[in-house]
This record gives sequence, structure tokens and C-alpha cells, in this order.
Amino acid sequence: MKFEAIAVEKIPLIHKGDDLPSLICERIELQDRDIVIIASTVVAKAEGEIFRLEDITPGEQALEIAARTGKDARFIQAVLARSREVFVEAPFMLVTTLAGHTCVNAGVDESNIEHGFLLYPSENPDSSALKLGEQLERLSGKKLSVIITDTNGRAFKIGQTGVAIGIFKIKPIKRWIGEKDLFGKILEITEEAVADELAGAANLLMGEGAGGIPVVIIRGIDYYCEGNTSINETYRPEDMDIIKKGLRCLQKKI
Ligand code: GDP
Ligand code: MN
Ligand code: MN
Repeated sequence: MKFEAIAVEKIPLIHKGDDLPSLICERIELQDRDIVIIASTVVAKAEGEIFRLEDITPGEQALEIAARTGKDARFIQAVLARSREVFVEAPFMLVTTLAGHTCVNAGVDESNIEHGFLLYPSENPDSSALKLGEQLERLSGKKLSVIITDTNGRAFKIGQTGVAIGIFKIKPIKRWIGEKDLFGKILEITEEAVADELAGAANLLMGEGAGGIPVVIIRGIDYYCEGNTSINETYRPEDMDIIKKGLRCLQKKI
């Protein structure tokens, strides 16, 4: 058993309006059922989700959080603009984004962009993945899956990893429930976060710095599926999320 992860090399610096699918297809011959993994940073750049820090006017809530935490109110305003709920304000902003992803700083990035600028991840990464996927399929004539990734920390462990924040034609979860283990016992709980695992694998080639590898193809492992899929399938329903409930309790007590 094996699969391949292939870095798409020599992609230029991306700017607003750049045609990512063409840039990818000019550099690699895609095959049926390839999984095209794209860093959210370049999706944001192509979509023009780039803002100058000095142009951001903080609102009341951002000013209040900044006064409490000593952070830049303009950066906090950027995070709040993409958040539906704030769970932690310091030492980092832990929020749920408008799209439903829970992460630090709503994915607003200061790295791999010119000084003084911020990158916002697309407001709806699933619809970005759909647009990119349809165009990649049209240009290549192949059946493809797409994953848009970002780098996120984990609650209980040191170190960040690539995670999926938007998908196209891939089931993000593999259900093992009902399957047998080595000893014939029926698995009752396990669901494998396949899209996140693939994002993590791709991130090994992307890195976080000046590598200039925003696109990785995973080939030889088949999670292609026709029809609508959404990264929302991976977000725990609110009523089952005991960590979020705990964080809300903590906020009230403070
Ligand atoms: P994120 O994880 O989506 O926030 O993206 P990162 O900032 O970690 O970047 C992931 C990879 O994409 C790294 O190898 C960066 O050097 C690369 N990258 C970021 N922006 C660009 C760009 O405009 N062009 C190219 N070629 N690579 C980029
Ligand atoms: Mn990022
Ligand atoms: Mn990254």
C-alpha cells in the first residue's frame, strides 16, 4: 500500500484575481481522483481578501478587548469581523468563524503577506473549494477532489498541523462504525477525520515559511465522491460540544 504527495512547484506570488486552477494545470498533469490540496493563504490572495492594517477602524468591542488584553485593536477588529462567537480573548483569540470553523484568530494571517497587511480566509471556504474544483475539473477533464487547508493549533498538544477548512467532492469523515476490528469486535464510535489527515500530510510539503508550495497533489488514495459534501460535516453539533459549553461557563465565571 502506498500513496504519493506531490508538491506543485514554481507557483508565483499570488495576487487578487489570479486564476489558481490555470496556474495549477499549467504545472502538473492531473489524473482522475487526484486530491488537490490548496493552502487557504493563496485562495485568500486570489480572492482579494487582503487588508491593510492601518485601514481597519476598530469598533467598540475590539477597543474594549484591546484595552483588556493589550493587543492591536485593528487586528482584533479583523478577527471579530470573521467571527460568530468568541471563546477566549487572551493570550489568543479563540473563535468560531462565520463559516463554523473554530480556531485561533479566525484564520486571519499576518504571515506570507507583505508587511502591514492581513489576509482573511475566504468567508465560505466550501464555496471557494467548489469554484476551484469545478474549474480544475473543466481544465483537466479529470474527476478531482479539492481540500482547502489552513494551519491550526490543537487544544491539548504543542505544535500546529494542516487542517481542512473547505472541501469539494470528498467525504471528510470515514465512518468505521459497524466495521470489525482484528478480533471481530464491532467498532461503535470511531470516525476518521480523513480530510484533516490529508491536509496534515500535504502540509508536510507546504511548510509554513518561504517554501512557496501552496498546492500539493495527493495521488493513489481514493476518497473521491460525487455530489455535495461540506466541511460542516466535521463540525461537532453545538449541543454535543462539551468543550465549547465549558468555555462558555468559564467566561461567565471570570
Ligand atoms: P496557510 O497554512 O494557508 O496559512 O498558508 P501558509 O502561510 O502556511 O503557506 C503555505 C505554503 O504556501 C508555504 O509554502 C508558503 O511559502 C506558500 N505560499 C504562501 N503564499 C504564497 C504565494 O503567493 N505563492 C506561492 N508560490 N507560495 C505561497
Ligand atoms: Mn493560515
Ligand atoms: Mn500554514
